[in-house]
Amino acid sequence: MKHESDLNDLLAALKSDSRSVDVEKITAAWNFAAAAHAGQKRLSGPPYITHPTAVAVTLSRWNMDTATIIAGLLHDVVEDTPVTQDELVKNFGGEVARIVDGVTKITGIRLKGSTQEEFVENLRKMLLVMARDLRVILVKLADRLHNLQTLWVLSPEKQLENARETLEIYAPLAERLGMGEIKGELEDLAFPYVYPEEAAQLKRYIKPLIASGSEYIDKFRRELLALIKPVIPGAVINTRQKHLYSLFKKLQRPEISGDLGKIHDLFAARIIVSTKTECYAALGLIHEKFHPVPYLGISDFIATPKPNGYQSLHTKVFGPQGRIVELQIRTEEMHHQAEMGIAAHWQYSAAKDRGLSDKVLEKEGTFAPKGKLDWIRQLAVWQQDIKDNDEYLKSLKFDALQHRLLVFSPNGDVYDLPAGSTPVDFAYAVHTGLGPETAGARVNGKMVQLDEKLQNGDVVEILLDRKRKIPNPHWLDFIVTATARREISKKVS
Ligand code: MN
Repeated sequence: MKHESDLNDLLAALKSDSRSVDVEKITAAWNFAAAAHAGQKRLSGPPYITHPTAVAVTLSRWNMDTATIIAGLLHDVVEDTPVTQDELVKNFGGEVARIVDGVTKITGIRLKGSTQEEFVENLRKMLLVMARDLRVILVKLADRLHNLQTLWVLSPEKQLENARETLEIYAPLAERLGMGEIKGELEDLAFPYVYPEEAAQLKRYIKPLIASGSEYIDKFRRELLALIKPVIPGAVINTRQKHLYSLFKKLQRPEISGDLGKIHDLFAARIIVSTKTECYAALGLIHEKFHPVPYLGISDFIATPKPNGYQSLHTKVFGPQGRIVELQIRTEEMHHQAEMGIAAHWQYSAAKDRGLSDKVLEKEGTFAPKGKLDWIRQLAVWQQDIKDNDEYLKSLKFDALQHRLLVFSPNGDVYDLPAGSTPVDFAYAVHTGLGPETAGARVNGKMVQLDEKLQNGDVVEILLDRKRKIPNPHWLDFIVTATARREISKKVS
């Protein structure tokens, strides 16, 4: 990603995009954003608009839809300019405005400096905001990717905070979403800020290996091509160098314990073919000439994909001069999916403009590509990981957290309520003044009784009767929050 992008870069990116995006609408959004940010500068010097433009260029490269690209252009206007949420709705529609609002919200959820408990709680809130529309995360990832490029302008404290948050939250998120390439980029940008000495040392350490390694893999690539092309004429072979941070993490594994000699994938070759059958055919051709390393084995992630959807055949073979080399074999589609993950096969789900309860999410997925990724399942797996990784979180406190309820207001504000809460508890949580005026409630668009128990992810809308000043004493029979009980008791006794 370039540090500075202008409208021409964006138009060029849109042009090279095979899908149909609305160039006119996007251009109008760019003009709107440029006017809103007029006079503002990035800390790194260039006009502010270069930042949202770069974000939109990235989103366009990820083949995102018109609404997401526009949201990318406008993602900072509500927070940093006088433009209001209502103006966004009026000019660009509710869909764009909701994505921008989601981005603003997750940006506002601070994860640093909090206790472990607050961290998990905030993370949970963040995930729920994002789970309502995955396009929010994609805008956020593109935003973070660009901000990391100019992280040097911030104070050392801010650098560390952002870089750490990237390694702890955004890179794992990208991985969960199957965006391997983006994850690698985010990590490598953040790595030197979080581990300056280790990063510098590792770079020095592998420098000589890189020179010889890239020469070796290039030669091997040509040999493989000569072997495979006659049988599979369409085959393409790329080489890649392992991302630095991923190497750093691997060196820390107990079975490697810092020994670079045990790293066999510093360089790897990728064989890209058209069909699954060709994948296995290519594997056969390779193994005939270059023996697989017995104890390192072959992984068939085509037959058994990784949980995030990753597919490929991996083999480690004895290459020329007996060096162990990792080879990955996949179809073009698998390759695109491995690099871009969820962004690779974007589509709208039927869940679009609905209030999305967990039940609906579970049944229909959210804005996630249908059938490709079960976001809620991913969320659960991730929470499980967080739980397993830390003894502290296995304690009762974490369990208590799971009995909490996160519900949304119609404009996406998240409220944290105890389990068993009702619309009346919700009304008092939003504002104690709203409580007495509560006349009815809609949950996920449907009218419900005021004693209805809310579920995680519910969107709750309170219907008011402005003339009512006294709460109904019967509410005391079902409300669960201390605030509601205190306020109601005050008024009715
Ligand atoms: Mn931004």
